[in-house]
Amino acid sequence: MKEGIKAHSNILELIGNTPLIQLNKITASLKGNYYAKVEGFNPGHSAKDRIALHIIEEAERTGVLKPGDTIIETTSGNTGFSIAMVSIIKGYDCILAVSSKSSADKIDMLRTMGAKVYVCPAHVKADDPRSYYEVAKRLHNEIKGSVYINQYFNTLNIAAHYKSTGPEIWEQTNGQITHLVACSGTGGTISGTARFLKEQNPNIKIIGIDAYGSVLQKYHETREFDTKEIYPYRIEGLGKNLIPTATDFDSIDQFVKVTDEDSAHTAREIAKTEGLFVGYTSGAAMQGIKQLNEQDVFSENSNVVVIFPDHGSRYMSKIFNDEWMEQQGFFDAETVEVEAIHYI
Ligand code: PMP
Repeated sequence: MKEGIKAHSNILELIGNTPLIQLNKITASLKGNYYAKVEGFNPGHSAKDRIALHIIEEAERTGVLKPGDTIIETTSGNTGFSIAMVSIIKGYDCILAVSSKSSADKIDMLRTMGAKVYVCPAHVKADDPRSYYEVAKRLHNEIKGSVYINQYFNTLNIAAHYKSTGPEIWEQTNGQITHLVACSGTGGTISGTARFLKEQNPNIKIIGIDAYGSVLQKYHETREFDTKEIYPYRIEGLGKNLIPTATDFDSIDQFVKVTDEDSAHTAREIAKTEGLFVGYTSGAAMQGIKQLNEQDVFSENSNVVVIFPDHGSRYMSKIFNDEWMEQQGFFDAETVEVEAIHYI
């Protein structure tokens, strides 16, 4: 770079070191102090930038990936976007096998980021050769020099957060954190961050947020995979219908389940009270905090760090769209009337 120019050499240098922001109004009636780790500040707008960069750089370090090779993953969500972004800068081909349930907007966004997107039927079983899991596996076997990220079963996912998110929170709170509240999907964020924090202070309580319709909380309590827990829900990125090996259940003290409706309203409330435009699972995490207050989990001296995993812009056609909220039955008549006044 030219002398005297204060520029980053590329966008990847901006991954991590996200801000910790005190929450003020939304927590006014709650016990304790609350700080949000706002992962939407990553250049790809989510915490998944961290795992995309770490897993790809580990593959480079171990000689698995060479320039011009191919990176494969099965997601239309945040991880897909982050992998596509890292692939562009580092010169890899990126293939994403996604479900036909993915919105056209998401597929367009991934294509814009240079990914080759395979749209696979949503209605087939996971072991059907047409499923996105099987398509990804087949492409990985066929393409020489390809890496399958496989975030739910890749322990480098935990390592990425152990290396970055955990130390950042420890440093930003000057070691004063008492509780971590984080959503669990693959479990990489909560497990890696928890492992690091508990090594510094084993008394820090780690609380995972799970969805109704997911098996994680029950598995944590019983170590039993109970298929009766599984039913459809709307929040994306939170909870699961299988047990991911990227989750270290021993590092988590407790899970809290939240509903689609409460989480959607709380995400909207975060925007209105704190001016923080964050995603659906951020609403879920904040909702979990409200429920934990009802159970008297926190005291006036608690320093609670909550991870807000992504930016709100990815949910414009969902929780931030009044029509969608109404279609889900998330507005009562009174709320809609008050909302409508804003448009006059
Ligand atoms: N929130 C969102 C929006 C996500 O995409 C994910 C990832 N599935 C999570 C939370 C959970 O993070 P993790 O996979 O690290 O448990």
